[in-house]
Amino acid sequence: MKNWKRNVRRVIPYTPGEQPNEPDMIKLNTNENPYPPSPDVFAAMRAFDADRLRLYPDPTAGVLVDALAKRYGRKSSEVFVGVGSDDVLAMCYLTFFNSGKPILFPDITYSFYDVWANVFGIPFASQPLDENLCIRRQDYYKENGGIVFPNPNAPTGVYLPLADVEDIVSHNPDVICIVDEAYIDFGGMSALPLIDKYDNLLVVQTFSKSRSMAGARIGYAFGNERLIGYLNDVKYSFNSYTMDQWTLSCGAAALGDEAYFRATVEKIVATRERVKRELAALGFTMPDSLGNFLFIRHRSVPARELFEALRKAHIYVRYFNKPRIDNMLRVTVGTDEEMDRFLTFLKEYLKKSLKE
Ligand code: PMP
Repeated sequence: MKNWKRNVRRVIPYTPGEQPNEPDMIKLNTNENPYPPSPDVFAAMRAFDADRLRLYPDPTAGVLVDALAKRYGRKSSEVFVGVGSDDVLAMCYLTFFNSGKPILFPDITYSFYDVWANVFGIPFASQPLDENLCIRRQDYYKENGGIVFPNPNAPTGVYLPLADVEDIVSHNPDVICIVDEAYIDFGGMSALPLIDKYDNLLVVQTFSKSRSMAGARIGYAFGNERLIGYLNDVKYSFNSYTMDQWTLSCGAAALGDEAYFRATVEKIVATRERVKRELAALGFTMPDSLGNFLFIRHRSVPARELFEALRKAHIYVRYFNKPRIDNMLRVTVGTDEEMDRFLTFLKEYLKKSLKE
């Protein structure tokens, strides 16, 4: 073996969902928003002066940080921004999970959590969800090096009541707890107000889902000034200019259009609730999701078979070939029309396959 090979940082990377590009496809595999961003984002893009690209962007991302602070009623010093919440979460790991003790997260959860732990050499111990796919708060009372979980959880969609979130945070005053609220706008209560009460809490959110801007890559964290200061120190030791000026303007514009944000979220929630009922009538079961996706299992047809059949029809959903969830499909809530096509396909497929 050549010597350099011994020193390579070998990792098993995160596998992102496919990004196929077929004109007739229905893309329900990566929890994107089926509606466009606010018209104010289009306007901000048109108004952007490309000459500005000669210059480096504002390293403090001031226009976006200030807009987030205003929208959420916080101080700018309590806001950290990054290139999607993936970047923000990775920075949190790097900054806060350095005790050498295992960090804790659920066994069925966002599949990036163990990837970051591995790439940064952080030990971890995953905690099994209960038989209803819920987080058991008592599992997070043991000694640990930090805690991270999504609320609602992904890919289950299950929401942990705020009292349980607080219970976990309050049992862990000596480590940082990260609540990943990528899907919180679709029905849950945010833990954001708790940052005043707990100095060990970070709440992470994203523009990728409820604000229809996955392609812009904007994520953010709220926490007390000290935590945000530590995050910025690590960011500036890595790359001062994580976010480009164009994205900063578009992000700030999106935050100004509260009415559009609310209307889009309401449409998705209404579609989600309708599709839950229609899927149940077709023989599917699912945990009660508060995200913009459903995690479904059919009473007789295996998930893998449905996944392949849907794919052939250019309907993309997500299948995880992993213990405990290998008979489930995660389906993003699309427009009503997309979901009707999805349901019609399932109805016909199930009729055929149950007859055989
Ligand atoms: N957290 C969870 C739970 C997610 O499902 C996702 C989306 N894949 C992310 C974080 C990252 O989202 P983004 O980087 O687009 O903000």
